[in-house]
Amino acid sequence: MSSLQPDYSIVEVLPFDGGGRVYSYAIPEALRGKITAGQLVRVPLGRSTRLGVVWGAAAREGQVASETLKSILQLCHDTPVITEDLRKLTEWLASYYAAPLNSALETALPAAVRQGVRVVVQKKLKLARKLEADELAKLRKRAPKQAALYDFLSRQIVAVDRSTTLKGLSIGAASCDTMIENGIVAEIGEQIERAVYEDELGESEFIAATAPVLNKEQSAALDSITCELNNGAFRAHLLHGVTGSGKTEVYIGAIREVLSAGGSAIFLVPEVALTPQTVGRLRQRLADMGTRVVVWHSHLSAGERFDAWMAMARGEARLVVGARSAIFAPVPNLRCIVVDEEHEPSYKQGESPLYHGRDVAVYRASLTGAVAVLGSATPSLESLANVRAGKYGISRLLSRVDDRAMPTLRILDMKREVLHTRGQSVLSRPLVDALRLRLERREQSILFLNRRGFSRMMICPECGFVPGCPHCSIALTYHRTDETLRCHACGHSEPAPRSCPGCGSPKVRGRGTGTQKLEDVLRMVIPEARVMRLDADTMGRKNLFRHVLSDFRKGKIDILMGTQMLAKGLDFPNVTLVGIVDADLSLHIPDFRASERTFQLLVQVAGRAGRGDRAGEVLVQTFTPHAAPIQYAKKSDFDGFLEDEMQQRLAHGYPPARHLIRHVFKGRNEEKVAFFAEGWVKFLEEKAPGLVEVRGPAPCPLEKLQDHYRWNAWYFTDRVVRAVNRIRELREEFVFDAGVIDSMDVDAIDLM
Ligand code: ADP
Ligand code: ZN
Ligand code: ZN
Repeated sequence: MSSLQPDYSIVEVLPFDGGGRVYSYAIPEALRGKITAGQLVRVPLGRSTRLGVVWGAAAREGQVASETLKSILQLCHDTPVITEDLRKLTEWLASYYAAPLNSALETALPAAVRQGVRVVVQKKLKLARKLEADELAKLRKRAPKQAALYDFLSRQIVAVDRSTTLKGLSIGAASCDTMIENGIVAEIGEQIERAVYEDELGESEFIAATAPVLNKEQSAALDSITCELNNGAFRAHLLHGVTGSGKTEVYIGAIREVLSAGGSAIFLVPEVALTPQTVGRLRQRLADMGTRVVVWHSHLSAGERFDAWMAMARGEARLVVGARSAIFAPVPNLRCIVVDEEHEPSYKQGESPLYHGRDVAVYRASLTGAVAVLGSATPSLESLANVRAGKYGISRLLSRVDDRAMPTLRILDMKREVLHTRGQSVLSRPLVDALRLRLERREQSILFLNRRGFSRMMICPECGFVPGCPHCSIALTYHRTDETLRCHACGHSEPAPRSCPGCGSPKVRGRGTGTQKLEDVLRMVIPEARVMRLDADTMGRKNLFRHVLSDFRKGKIDILMGTQMLAKGLDFPNVTLVGIVDADLSLHIPDFRASERTFQLLVQVAGRAGRGDRAGEVLVQTFTPHAAPIQYAKKSDFDGFLEDEMQQRLAHGYPPARHLIRHVFKGRNEEKVAFFAEGWVKFLEEKAPGLVEVRGPAPCPLEKLQDHYRWNAWYFTDRVVRAVNRIRELREEFVFDAGVIDSMDVDAIDLM
């Protein structure tokens, strides 16, 4: 923390809700020498007062007469609420992701801390000593109220809440305090809302608490990470290990190194639902390291959040596990950041600032000289490009622990299979047979539905043909209203064919299947199976999600069906069959990452099979069995896929060849949106020729969302911060209609 000079008299403060600007304030006499960057202060702003953070010494000092300045009103805590590396991270976040500084700061500082909340202490009472019979008789006569409290407390097994008890018995605080002074009653302070997910750790029975002996590959990976940790300088390291190769053991080894050297670590997981499982495992394996392990994610209450935050800031909790926002944990001496399943799109925040947890992790590691370990069975092309450029180190785990077999993938060509299933075209004969076999053997199955698919694409059920854009290597979207096929990346449009351009079949149509329909079909064809569904509906309800997983573990469910979330890190030893119902659906979304996503999903989902002693089988239903990602996944050929896909990206100039900034324009009036999007892009190209390569504007794939029409333009660049700064400057000059809102998404993942 850069302490300010003691003789300065003006500081810059960033007020919350102040529009993201820093303002200069004078320091009143009483606070001279006490103000440090990062502190929480109260300042006047306009007609009201605001809380804000001291951002630094004023650049204008000496030039401004301090009498004309407003003064800081109050210093909330002596200790800064934000460390220097987090302040720098916040500034970078705002400039890189084109966000106002205060929204970046709000992202990094939980509301409970920003609002200056202190920990609420709940006072509890219990009996401190038993009274002799004569003592008690005296008390009854002299102080009946105290006697009543004594009687009540002597019947309690656990400590009771002080204020409710006193109110309930109509006893004054003074009587109670007298009893405390006399040593008859004890008062204990307990923080409210402190225990986090305690009950969810019940699942820990499935996790080995003792450390397994690392195999050769694991040891080699841990050695190189340890070496980087010992260098004490920033490093990013990709841990590329097949599913079930024991990546988590490598992370644990690295974290043990860090903790035993007195450092702190952050462990990011892609999904809130996965935190309890991971925390349970880490707590057990790191129980001897003398630190609290805290959980951090968006579902915490304000009290839980404040408690965890303080524990981290004070250095009591040196390991935090959480979803993307845990990257802003205020831990001192940060040495290591683990990003598990680094390829997961859920690391990208969906609202401003649209930051990517993995990329922020790498940047924060660079600020503190820490090691960022990015792990995945299917790393993103972005991270692999960084490895190839020599920026990241890499370790590979090519085999499963104890040389367990990789699951075998069997591809089912649905063009043929639908001919053999009477009545329904959702489940093929071989998949139904395989499910029945598992029932007989008392083994479990997972059915996976690929919901990233887009129902409005056109597909031929006879030959699997999907019309694509001649300019963009993505599928065209079918517009029923005017019978056209359009590209939502470049604006290309053509009439929708009445018969399949591939085989001439007249049966071409839009396509899509829901989890509900799958469940109905399943109950019809295998009525004796116990089936449960996990999708967005169940995901929203925290307890239901946990109960379903817990029941599945206990064997109370035969077939678990669900979407993407089943692909993430869950470990079920008795699952020997995984069925992928519609593997190719995600192939045809208008997104240049469609192949990558499909390949990742297949490999990750397949990885859920055969994690116990028995070998696993994976059945993949598809209309396009020869599509590259499906073929590569079948052969478990990651390198082949990577080579192929990287070629495609480079050929089109897509990420990771360059960065993509997506600029979205939306409004209720479609013509206005189009008009301003086009006008702006023309203005940008005139004013800053060559700053970025522009594609579009064109309607977004999701053209209308909540009654708003949406257009987008894509900007490609090698230098994000320079481009973003210039575009923001120009954007100030260009006046939009009030009914048109625009926003920029740097390194966009969601292209809908
Ligand atoms: P990944 O994250 O790579 O999919 P995990 O780290 O979850 O794999 O490991 C899969 C399983 O193998 C876990 O149950 C873990 O306890 C176990 N395991 C990991 N490493 C070893 C090892 N060296 N020897 C035996 N079992 C191991
Ligand atoms: Zn066809
Ligand atoms: Zn196109």
